[in-house]
Amino acid sequence: MAVAAERQKRAGVLRPTSVVESVYESIYHRLMSLEIAPGARIPIDLFARELGVSQTPIREALSRLEREGLVRKEHLIGYSAAPQWTRKQFEDLYVFRLLIEPEAARLAALNMTPEALQQLEVFSADMGQGGPPVDRNTRYSRFARADAQFHDAILKIAGNDVIRTSLSSQHTHLHIFRLMFHTRVTQEALQEHEDLLTAFRAGDSEAAAQAMRVHIERSRDRLLSAFE
Ligand SMILES: [Zn+2]
Repeated sequence: MAVAAERQKRAGVLRPTSVVESVYESIYHRLMSLEIAPGARIPIDLFARELGVSQTPIREALSRLEREGLVRKEHLIGYSAAPQWTRKQFEDLYVFRLLIEPEAARLAALNMTPEALQQLEVFSADMGQGGPPVDRNTRYSRFARADAQFHDAILKIAGNDVIRTSLSSQHTHLHIFRLMFHTRVTQEALQEHEDLLTAFRAGDSEAAAQAMRVHIERSRDRLLSAFE
């Protein structure tokens, strides 16, 4: 059961397996699409009534979202959506990503196996269309997760655990996607991912590093307009 759920998660298939899971998905989509605005309160009783569940699964879903940095809990006040990132937080993260991720892509190209490459191709395809037609908000938040999985898979293939954990603790993709709710981000990123895959297919480590550098720089430039 746990293995199946983990496989589903890794494959990017979003099939709610429990009440907590579906509550989590619902709140996650609203946070990512800014339907729940950054900083806004999340009243547990209201959400319980709206989603037709008890408060327990709401609390469980919120504590998971708290671990992911998307919500905050304050004593006596309760839960609220995490505030939007400042420009400084954003720029600091991108300096860090530019230091780390091109090197991770280079290492991943050196360690690439046919199985690992196939897994990356699956994540990439998930981002392209993946699944039945859904509304724009859901599509967007799913894309954010598939993108996170794609990048994490590269870090995993790279095989350096320090690099992988230092980046995953930042929950990069959840925050940058929430920063700018915009479909252009997804279309352009798809082509950049394709360039990365081309380098991996060719086993060209320098080209992989360069493609990752270009992807992160362009991602930064696309998202900077959120601060203007
Ligand atoms: Zn990406």
